[in-house]
Amino acid sequence: MVERAPHSPLISARRVLDRLLAAAEVESKRANGRRAWVALDMDGTLFDNRPRTLAILHSFAMAHREPVPELLTAVQKLTLDDLHYTPSQAVDALNLPQRDLGERFVDYWRQRFFTNSFQPLDHVEPGAAEFAHRLVDAGLGVVYLTGRDRPGMMHGVLQSLDAHGFPLMSPQTQVVLKPEFQHDDVAFKREALGELAKNGPLVGLVDNEPGIVNMALEVLPDMLCVRILRPHAPNPPELDARAVQIPSFRLDVDFDDMTAQT
Ligand SMILES: [Mg+2]
Repeated sequence: MVERAPHSPLISARRVLDRLLAAAEVESKRANGRRAWVALDMDGTLFDNRPRTLAILHSFAMAHREPVPELLTAVQKLTLDDLHYTPSQAVDALNLPQRDLGERFVDYWRQRFFTNSFQPLDHVEPGAAEFAHRLVDAGLGVVYLTGRDRPGMMHGVLQSLDAHGFPLMSPQTQVVLKPEFQHDDVAFKREALGELAKNGPLVGLVDNEPGIVNMALEVLPDMLCVRILRPHAPNPPELDARAVQIPSFRLDVDFDDMTAQT
């Protein structure tokens, strides 16, 4: 389970939605009626991409089932919670004596993970599509701001959003992908947020990466920056205390704000 940062409050998605709608009303008035926008990340935020890694691991194990039959046996026992975040962590969870298999798997994974064809394997986060619809229904814009790259992943991005019923292809939605695979995610999103703010007030962002949330608060300190408690890249920075955290997007689960611990 992903631990929450103790110095940032944990609040329900319902309360985040209420705060976003209230902020949109204020900021739209201030911006002469221009639409307010909320940026939503995809990997680890709207979608759990660990099923993608697990499927690639199964495929790798099948391809090696003759020389290494124990690999397939070990993979079949894995659950999503064993995977954490990186492909190396997935291999570590197998506890195999052949260390070189790990490096070969990372290569194998890299050739498949960042492609269109494996994205449909992702699981949608419960409540995520409804959350996006509630923003759009209230007149806000939703921008899917993802580190997936346009050359290799655009079709899979649109297919996944569409298949899971997210609002899409309307004047109230945008999809922003990295122009090149090798671009750094934080630098890409920093630049994109600066550009997106020219379209209208950006009132919120939801991301699973503490580093992205912290950067967003640097760029737009008045924005409601939300970290969803999902796996993130190793060695994250400490979450900015101005951020809030949500356990999920589910709007049917409400609880009192769990305030920051000092
Ligand atoms: Mg992410």
